[in-house]
Amino acid sequence: VDPVVREDMTKFQETFTGIKERFRLINRIGEGTFSTVYKAEDLMYDAYLNDWDLEEKENNKTWKSPPVKGGKHDVDQYGEPKRRSKYVAIKKIYVTSSPTRILNELELLHDLERCDSVCPLITAFRNTDQVVAVLPYFRHTDFRDYFRNMRISEVQTYFRSLFTALAAVHAKGILHRDIKPTNFLYDIDKERGVLVDFGLAEREGTDCKPCLCQDRVEERRRRIQNSVTAQVGPSSGYPKHDSRPSRRANRAGTRGFRAPEVLLKCTEQTTKIDIWSAGVILLTILSKRFPFFNSADDVEAMIEITTIFGVKRMKQCAQLHGTVLETTIPTIGSHGFTLEKIILWSLSRSGDDAETGTPLSSGEKLAMRFLERCFELDPNKRISAQEALQHDFLRVDEP
Ligand code: ADP
Ligand code: MG
Repeated sequence: VDPVVREDMTKFQETFTGIKERFRLINRIGEGTFSTVYKAEDLMYDAYLNDWDLEEKENNKTWKSPPVKGGKHDVDQYGEPKRRSKYVAIKKIYVTSSPTRILNELELLHDLERCDSVCPLITAFRNTDQVVAVLPYFRHTDFRDYFRNMRISEVQTYFRSLFTALAAVHAKGILHRDIKPTNFLYDIDKERGVLVDFGLAEREGTDCKPCLCQDRVEERRRRIQNSVTAQVGPSSGYPKHDSRPSRRANRAGTRGFRAPEVLLKCTEQTTKIDIWSAGVILLTILSKRFPFFNSADDVEAMIEITTIFGVKRMKQCAQLHGTVLETTIPTIGSHGFTLEKIILWSLSRSGDDAETGTPLSSGEKLAMRFLERCFELDPNKRISAQEALQHDFLRVDEP
């Protein structure tokens, strides 16, 4: 272990009363935007069981751990004895996070307790202003180590796992809001993945009541029609004195993975924003480029998306959310490019000769058609997680 990490772990153990007695910190495994995550050994593990080997049994039901021995939680929903993990991930949430945000994350994890494809919450502790969440440690492979070398059948397995998780989360009316490779821990050997990080997740419809939103959209339409742009036509660049009301909406998430409706600050965001982000992961894998989108801000992100989809479709998309899109950037065409072109260019396979001009295989084409459904600009037309599992790309045919 790196001496700096060792020192950080020692400090954590010294300052968080009682943690030493319960866990042995092994290493620091993650440093995200909102937390530091450590791998640790649960020292009370032996007190609960002795015949249990985490590596041997991969049954996902076995994660549910009893908080108290002999308590009512001793058996799971299937009537089987619950087991606890010997190795855990301790998520130390930064003290600068708001209490509401922390509570939200823990509450949603609690609600998703029975979803096998969501990493469950074992327990949580608070010591003054420091909150830690304890999750079973899930062994996974770093996305950067495998995304370039996946066979189409492996891509299918990966997305079957991801969309199974999304379907379960969405069925509970929860939006994850931050779907990206580091929040989907995938074990390439076991072909299983779990969703983590519900720090930005929210319940559908909590952002704003739909009926109110509709009113706001109408109001904006009226105001836009009276605005400068509508009267004198598009000007070049940004207006210096924009008298139009600014828009506010939840824009949480990670650069490059935000759906167009998030970038356009739509106030009525649905679970479909997660489908878009999953699509960005698929595009990354198919094009072997990570990160695929690499913008510094939302405007740049819009430029990237508009370059692919073309101004015509993006204008319609903007209108759908009660805004207007204007651009004078000469490189953005009105029709954009097909995903097939984008993928072939990324792979340097769009040339004329036999070597550089290998077209998409039938498997890649199927993946691309599925991607088109995830990248539907209109969230209402975009495929849902449940539908995705029935798509030719993901469906498992009964033998
Ligand atoms: P943040 O909100 O800071 O992004 P995450 O919950 O995404 O926190 O965790 C950060 C990283 O820690 C993850 O990307 C992953 O590498 C690691 N991690 C989180 N939970 C687990 C777990 N249960 N098992 C193994 N590694 C984990
Ligand atoms: Mg994360």
